[in-house]
Parts: sequence; C-alpha cells; structure tokens
Amino acid sequence: MALSGIQIFKMMPKKNCGECGVPTCLAFAMNLAGGKAELAQCPYVSDDAKEKLASASAPPIRTVQIGANAGAVKVGGETVLYRHEKTFNNPTGLGCLISTSETDDSVDAKLKAFKELRYERVGLTLKPELVAVKDEGAADRFKAIAKKADEAGAAVVLISDNLDALKSALSEIGKNKPLLYAATEGNLDSMSDLAKEFDCPLAVKAAKVGQVAKLAAKLIAKGHKDLVLSTDNLSLAEQLRDQVMIRRLALENLYRPLGFPTIVFPCAMADNPIDETIVAGTFISKYAGIQILSDLKGEVVFPLLLQRLNIYTDPQRPMTTEQGIYPVNNPDEKSPVLITSNFSLTYFIVSGEIEASRVPSWLLVLNTDGLSVLTAWAAGKFVGDVIGPFVKKCGIEDKSKLKKLVIPGAAAIISGDLEEELPDWEIAIGPREGAHIPAYLRQNFA
Ligand code: SF4
Repeated sequence: MALSGIQIFKMMPKKNCGECGVPTCLAFAMNLAGGKAELAQCPYVSDDAKEKLASASAPPIRTVQIGANAGAVKVGGETVLYRHEKTFNNPTGLGCLISTSETDDSVDAKLKAFKELRYERVGLTLKPELVAVKDEGAADRFKAIAKKADEAGAAVVLISDNLDALKSALSEIGKNKPLLYAATEGNLDSMSDLAKEFDCPLAVKAAKVGQVAKLAAKLIAKGHKDLVLSTDNLSLAEQLRDQVMIRRLALENLYRPLGFPTIVFPCAMADNPIDETIVAGTFISKYAGIQILSDLKGEVVFPLLLQRLNIYTDPQRPMTTEQGIYPVNNPDEKSPVLITSNFSLTYFIVSGEIEASRVPSWLLVLNTDGLSVLTAWAAGKFVGDVIGPFVKKCGIEDKSKLKKLVIPGAAAIISGDLEEELPDWEIAIGPREGAHIPAYLRQNFA
C-alpha cells in the first residue's frame, strides 16, 4: 500500500544534507510519496527502511521490459503527467504488425525494413524496437514468423487467442521474453499460467479502463508483476481518453492496478499512412508505452522517431556531446582547428557544415555543460582562460602543427584573451552562422 509523505519521512535519515537534490528529508519524502523522486537518490537510507519503502518508492507506473536479447525494450517507469514537470523516462516502443495471413514477401519486406530503418541523430541511433506477430489461425506459421522476428533482433509481441499456438511459439522464442497479448475476462487463468510458465510479460485487455483495472488487480493477486494494459477502443478520441485516464489514476491516485505501461494499435485505428502517423503521434505524446503500426515505412517511422526523441529528452538537461577532439574529413597536421561548445545541436550543426566543406579539419568540443556558444560565453564557460588550458591539455598540439584556431564568430570577443592564453597559436574568427562555415573553410584552408 502506498505510504504518505509523513510516513516515509519517519524512516528518512533526517540529515537534511540536500544530496538528493532537495534541501530537506521532508521535501524528499513528499516527492517520494508523489512518485517524483527515487529512493536511490538518497545515499543514507538504512537497509531496513529501504525494504519498507521499496513498494512505496517504486515508480507509480512500473517499468516493464519486453524481450531479453540485445533488442529488448523498456517501457513505462513514468513518474509525471507532463514532461515539463520532470522528464519522461522510457520512450514509447514502436513496432509493426505482421499477420500470419500475409505473404512471405510481405513478412520478409517488413522484417527487412525493421532491420534497416536506422537514423543517426544527435549521436543517437533512432529505430523501431518491436514486431507484433498476429496469429490468424495458423499456429505453425505463427511460430515460424515469431522466430524470424526474434532472429531479426526485435522485441516480440505474440498476439493470439489460441493458447496452443502461443505455447508453440514460446517453445521457440520464450527465452527472449516476448509480450503475450492478451489476458482477457475469458482466458485470464490460462494466460496467467502460460505467462508464469515462461516468465513473460503479459498484456491485459478489456473494453473499458475499469474492466482492465479489475483484470490487472486479479493478475497482481496471482503474483504477476510485468503487465501491459490495453483497451479495445479504436476511436482516436476514446483511446486518448483511456490513455489519459490510466495515466492520471496511476500517477495522481497511485492506483496500482493501472500502474503499468499501455499498448496501442494505430494499425487498427487508421486506414492510410497519414492518418496512422497522426494517431501514433498523438499517443507518443499521451501516453502509450508501446505502439504497433501496420508497416515500417520511413516516411511514417522517421517523423515518429523524431517526435519521440523530442518528447523523451530531459527538458532540464541539454543534450551534450563528449568533450574532445573530433577529426572531420581525415585531417592531418596541416589542418585547421575549430572549436565549439558541447551543446549537441551546436556540435552536430558545426560538424555537419565542416563535413560539407570537404576541408580536412579538427573540431574541438569544449565541455560547457550543454550550453550553446553564446550562453556559455555569458556564463564564463567559453572564454579565453577556459579554452586556453583546454587546448594545451587536450592533445591537439600533437595532431595539428598549423596552430590555427578558428573560434565561432559569435564569440569573437574572446579572441584577445585567447591570443594571450595561446601565444603560439593564430586565432581566427570564423563565421557567426554555421551555414557559412563551408565557404569560410574553402576560402581560407582549401
Ligand atoms: S540525501 Fe537523504 S539524508 Fe540527505 S536530505 Fe536527501 S533524504 Fe535527507
């Protein structure tokens, strides 16, 4: 049962040291009770208190892992209703549906797309994670496609009303913990037994949120921990209402039967790619843990992956690139050195423009705590007496003998300080805009 903030506070170390990110143990206890903090943030909690607080401090929405191999995906684990309150944690898992009634060519094309759709953005690889295999009354084919999907590295969702078909597929891929879809009013006990036998996560499905909650409560009583919730509603408005209701009850009321990630099927809610993209986009924002599309077409998947990236990055922590030396276009010791901040967006724009210039160059990335060049300069993190020691220590002097450092035009003001810090270097002022870097490099260094 959930504990109140005061009950949790009584078990806190009461050091009021602030190491957990809030100034007092009372504030931390209140956050813990509201699902806005994690027990691990306090290093001083006793083992005894940890045990007692374990359930109270668990995220109000459980993190559920689908799959066990390298392609496993974690969903759920959310602690806030709105991203700006803190952050969303586990991005919506995206996948496509493959039915046993599809031709071999169609199955192979979808699995090929699953393996090939990879997009590199801001240092991350964006890709779909799941394949849902649906049995349409062909158990052997169901098993064979499930095996292929598993071998393709997907986290698999097995969809069937036929327990024997599910069991047969599990005999092939059960060790990789696919999600079983779905326990219903009519098959609750047998699906529960099957999920327990193979230690797999289990989806629970009903027409309405209240019915899903009742079934989930029964499964919790049977000892299930990893559940995924599903309502039958295929209308965008009604499914959206269900998703919001589940999230609100889980977070605001700490209602445990609904404290699990959800699965939504845009593939069944739209009959053309544009509508399907709109439906899926809606549920990336609110609040699907998993979404199953009808196919994996780049023009549908790419915008969804980008939307997901935007929604699931921490709004309080800028995305950063590691400090260091980045070679672009195979530079050598006669190549110029450019420097920028470690705000990911800045880094990727600058490195992309240098690459486009085809001029071999060294790019230095300075740790500015994720601040862009101008903001970092204003905060004293992109100034002469920070950049100077960095250039001397980072090892670039062994790589570039040209000794020409190009600083961003927006930070031209630091050139005087840098000349004092780096007397052996020529300091050049580059363009203010990233788009002008190729012309600048070609003109001065080609
Ligand atoms: S880190 Fe622990 S002891 Fe320190 S203020 Fe936070 S809850 Fe209290």
